[in-house]
Amino acid sequence: MVAVMNNQTLTTTLRGKGLRITPQREMILLALTQSQGQMTAEQILEKVHEYSPCVNIATVYRNLDILRDYEILSVTALPDRPLQWELVDAEPHHHIVCTECHRMEQVPHETVAALSEKLLRDYGFRAVLKHMTLPGLCACCAAKPLDSAK
Ligand SMILES: [Zn+2]
Ligand SMILES: [Zn+2]
Repeated sequence: MVAVMNNQTLTTTLRGKGLRITPQREMILLALTQSQGQMTAEQILEKVHEYSPCVNIATVYRNLDILRDYEILSVTALPDRPLQWELVDAEPHHHIVCTECHRMEQVPHETVAALSEKLLRDYGFRAVLKHMTLPGLCACCAAKPLDSAK
């Protein structure tokens, strides 16, 4: 079972950060590991219920907050959308989000690294570019005729 391996890695991560391992936390992390992407709290709960039907949404919310505080999870807030949760990668990344269709894509840190280098070189400014969300129009929505855009 692949899940067991991942689970052990996660347990090690939790211990390394000094966070107590509870079955709920393990199940939340397992759910996120298996989805390989972002999930809402509702989606996480649905997955957790496959492991244990007696976890409720309040428990999921509480533990998501704790896991975020320990920088094990990161969260993306988009207007009018539920929070999107994901595991913090070893490699930093960012997201581009279409304001029309809400399509979200992950972009590697190299994409914005040039910007942070320029800010440092030209302004001596050390930008903190951690898990940014950049709004805009996706290729598909940008290609639509103007009159159909809001
Ligand atoms: Zn992300
Ligand atoms: Zn779009």
